[in-house]
Amino acid sequence: MQIQFLGAAGEVTGSRHSVEALIQGRTIRFIVDYGMFQGGREASSKNLEPLPFAPQEIDFIVLTHAHIDHSGLLPRLCAQGFTGPIYCTDASLELLKILLPDSAHLQRADVERAQRRQKAGKWRGDLPVALYSMEEAQLALDQCEVLPYGKVLHLCDGIDLEFHNAGHILGSAIAVLDITEDHAQKKRCVFSGDIGMKGKLLMPDPTFIPQADVVVVESTYGDRLHKSLENTEAELIEVVRNTLNARGNIVIPAFAVGRTQEILFLLIDLVKRGLLPHLSIWVDSPMATAATHLTQRFFEQLDKESQATFRWYQKNPGAVDLRFIADVEESKALNKIRGGAIIISASGMCDAGRIVHHLQNNLPRSQNAIIITGFQAYGSLGRRLVDKAAKVRLFGEDVPVKASIHTIGGLSAHADQAGLLDWLRGFRSPPKVVFVVHGEPEASVVLAQTIRDELEWNNVLVPERLRTYSC
Ligand SMILES: [Zn+2]
Repeated sequence: MQIQFLGAAGEVTGSRHSVEALIQGRTIRFIVDYGMFQGGREASSKNLEPLPFAPQEIDFIVLTHAHIDHSGLLPRLCAQGFTGPIYCTDASLELLKILLPDSAHLQRADVERAQRRQKAGKWRGDLPVALYSMEEAQLALDQCEVLPYGKVLHLCDGIDLEFHNAGHILGSAIAVLDITEDHAQKKRCVFSGDIGMKGKLLMPDPTFIPQADVVVVESTYGDRLHKSLENTEAELIEVVRNTLNARGNIVIPAFAVGRTQEILFLLIDLVKRGLLPHLSIWVDSPMATAATHLTQRFFEQLDKESQATFRWYQKNPGAVDLRFIADVEESKALNKIRGGAIIISASGMCDAGRIVHHLQNNLPRSQNAIIITGFQAYGSLGRRLVDKAAKVRLFGEDVPVKASIHTIGGLSAHADQAGLLDWLRGFRSPPKVVFVVHGEPEASVVLAQTIRDELEWNNVLVPERLRTYSC
């Protein structure tokens, strides 16, 4: 069997792992995840790079979860001639229905903006290219086939697939593939996808897999430990209480899928436990609203504590005044609220979307608070706020930063080093080989060495991108 790492090797995005197996004299080829490269100067050229084989040669795709860095190039692959099935969980498919068309829409908007700037003589260099259209996003959605957690699907002679909950986001899965090649023993290959943090809100803990021959494990935080949830809660309680007492507003920029729902559940849970007073919360992002409704729909896939919190809220709807903003006019009406509101809006790094209006309106007043809960990339507006800029430029205007800016960690969707090791300890005997992927080089190398030192597994590799490994 051969594995070639087409992405997420030496970096966190572009997850694509190609597997080739010889079964009944025929080469079966499948790919686990087909994600977009994001950020960094080389991302756009890598997204346009042709595959080392024809898309028609791929028998099927296995998708661990819906995040764009794992799913975002599927429409392009289907447009290029891949016609096979894409196996994913039910919740992943529902999230893809939100995320893939949105990705197509954002790409088109980027191209149109660049064209306008070029016409005005303000654009130098090549124009961006849309990787796929709305119609092509639909092609990929039509090729998805749903497989529930814990059910074995016989994909073809010699290959079975089973998904287990990875506890990362709604629908996230660890993919377990049993592969029996000609003249060989059955091999179990486990692809971690992205592994969630044990004990985190909303999602259950990642499932332990007792046995594997080949493991491909993520390492986003392979060299770091997260703050505890208790610390995160204490910080959040303090900021919310102080701001509400000072009659200010709280603005929380948050990624629409995952983070928004986590913050909502955390706030409701703190009210339930009597640690926060009655709250008025507005969720102002159409995508966040859709993702929150999906979370409610897949209620039975959440962890037990969050199910209890949700049931409590259904019985006590007056405890938290929760409103979802539908149109732009309603969104603008929020500008009139001078105090007492919690506004959760996207984008998570404050670069686009309705959050920019809320920042423009709330940054100039010192009684307001901005709570940053996610990673802020260098160059983003969110990063400038975290770095204590005295003023920021929004819609062509200088806006003074008088509101207090708070960074609250501990809400990561990824396991930290201890969490990854804990999950790996679930294998009762050392796998024949472990590939450490999906991390910056330092994070992957540190995790690989820690696995060798602490678990005493010998064969742990950090694969190179585009290189093929026999196993
Ligand atoms: Zn992910």
